[in-house]
Amino acid sequence: MDGKIKILNFTPEEIQRILEDMGEASYKGKQFCKWVYEKAVTDAEKMTDLSLGMRNLIENRFDICLVRASDEKISADGSIKLLCILKDGEAVEIVLIRHPGRNTLCLSTQAGCRYGCSFCASARSGFSRNLDVGEIISQVLIAKQRFPGGRLNNIVYMGVGEPLDNFENVVKSLGIISSEKGFNIGQRKITVSTCGVAPRIIDFADLGKQYELSVSLHAATDETRNRLMPVNKIYPLKELLKACEYFYNRTKREVTFEYVLLKGVNDSGKDAESLIKLNRGFKSKVNIIPYNAAMCSEFMPPDKEAVSSFCDRLSDAGLKVTVRWSKGSDINAACGQLRFLRKNDKARQGVE
Ligand code: SF4
Repeated sequence: MDGKIKILNFTPEEIQRILEDMGEASYKGKQFCKWVYEKAVTDAEKMTDLSLGMRNLIENRFDICLVRASDEKISADGSIKLLCILKDGEAVEIVLIRHPGRNTLCLSTQAGCRYGCSFCASARSGFSRNLDVGEIISQVLIAKQRFPGGRLNNIVYMGVGEPLDNFENVVKSLGIISSEKGFNIGQRKITVSTCGVAPRIIDFADLGKQYELSVSLHAATDETRNRLMPVNKIYPLKELLKACEYFYNRTKREVTFEYVLLKGVNDSGKDAESLIKLNRGFKSKVNIIPYNAAMCSEFMPPDKEAVSSFCDRLSDAGLKVTVRWSKGSDINAACGQLRFLRKNDKARQGVE
């Protein structure tokens, strides 16, 4: 370690104070933050309106971007998946998704995941550690550097890891991303996804913010959900839904339930009926994601007819339903796959 300050671990206000403590005028902190958050410039030499002394100070004392983009896959639909290497050699993934008129970043919050969902590639390479704030923020910088004109409109915390399991760092990163002095992305443009860590959903609601909450439901009975998502054995559906209702009552934000449709597992008429019964009592919507075959997976994608009849049943019952055909299916965009491949390669080469 070179003893430099990992400056992106701090909020813009904290950065300003750090620079003031180093004897710099407070406007210089503002200028620095502008370069980093607004222009995504991480090279001190390119911060042209800063004095040479200030640029030297930044160069010698601060470590700015904490991740390095490595392997890259570009999908036919334009989405880009990047493997990001952290300073200690750990790796996470980000996906840059381009929709007409808006750009979205899907970022990671942990190196690996301990929740072990059976359909998820991230679970297969195990859990290493939480990402710190600067490592989360660095992913946003990489995305801004890659999107034309630095235009980044939406952020989803849906990459590798369970965001609410890294609660404090995630909350601090959310503050920096949404702050006017930070990336200035509106709270409602940021979605945090959880596999269903009920107590943390309550803590998240108690922040009193307007961030979006997305819950990976994937099954509407405890029996099926226990099989797919071990977290359900700790926080079963009843407790999870109570927490979601609390979130809605506290924030008045609609809860999105993600439901990956798996052939023969959760795509029957009976499954649809169970899902209809669950979605009562507070405002929510269901996002159906037809499963994409991932390597080593025991699961199969649903038939197209099964997808439409499942969705029709939900809509007919008055549920708000959207179908998301996964972006980047041709590049194995399922979360955790690049990391999984890298770990396997290293293991084969005896690196780990
Ligand atoms: S789906 Fe999310 S919570 Fe489940 S194992 Fe994968 S990364 Fe973890």
